[in-house]
Amino acid sequence: MLQLNIPSSLQKIEYPLMDSSIELYVKRDDLIHPDISGNKWRKLNLNILQAEREHKNVILTFGGAYSNHIRATAAAANMLGLKSIGIIRGEELNKNSNENLRFAAQNGMELHFLDRETYFLRNHTDFSAILSNRFNLDFEKIFIVPEGGANALGAKGCGEIIKEIELDFDYITLACGTGTTFAGILNDLPLKSKALGFSVLKEASSIHHNIRQLTDKNYTLIEEYHWGGYAKKNEELLRFMEDFKDKTGIKLDYVYTGKMLFGLIDKINIGYFKPQSKIIALHTGGVLNASI
Ligand SMILES: *Cc1c(COP(=O)(O)O)cnc(C)c1O
Repeated sequence: MLQLNIPSSLQKIEYPLMDSSIELYVKRDDLIHPDISGNKWRKLNLNILQAEREHKNVILTFGGAYSNHIRATAAAANMLGLKSIGIIRGEELNKNSNENLRFAAQNGMELHFLDRETYFLRNHTDFSAILSNRFNLDFEKIFIVPEGGANALGAKGCGEIIKEIELDFDYITLACGTGTTFAGILNDLPLKSKALGFSVLKEASSIHHNIRQLTDKNYTLIEEYHWGGYAKKNEELLRFMEDFKDKTGIKLDYVYTGKMLFGLIDKINIGYFKPQSKIIALHTGGVLNASI
């Protein structure tokens, strides 16, 4: 049984802004489920339905040792009575290497560890043959979800976020790792509203590439709040996250949502948005565990 807090709530927040006519809301996808939080559920949802439609009862996916997506896939599959297989980057790892992998294994995920060179080939069409040989897997029953849930079904599932919002908003903002959530939101965005993505990577070309695969909408990706790259942080960012939590009660993580909210509030304070704008910051989740 899977109990999800959907539709997620929209919370108006009081945070001191340079322009007090601007209304700021947070869409609380972080509260969807403790182990399958935020956009990880949104991206898995339609993939799992498709697997069931194809009578496949094993979900195979990919990720790094700290991947939220691996964790979410293991938990969701377990709760839905499906099997799961995680292909993890790094042959030196094992299921006890960290809490994330231990959690996945405890949820019944079969873990396989791949050297980086082979892992790099994961999106090639004949990759299942490589996996099948190496780990003796039977692909008859296996449904493959790409790393980070970054496919068209993943994006489509994220469109639900927009459909749940009843407020007439001007902007929705979100953190981008692969850009899949952003693409899904762009595809379902009302005409009068805009979406702004904030890259958490120093080099955002992979995000642009992925967005282009998933949508032909115009978009704005802000690339100046990456803090040196993926999961990089400093005192200023951590201090902001503390302060945000004190003032709003909402916890952020330094990999994704902390960087996005810092960037958003900075942009508000330098006059990027028109007075009276209604802005929704999407809390994509990922704070209950190691936050990566
Ligand atoms: C995975 C993740 C993202 C990145 O989502 P993409 O669809 O890959 O851009 C953003 N926020 C959180 C909290 C995440 O766990």
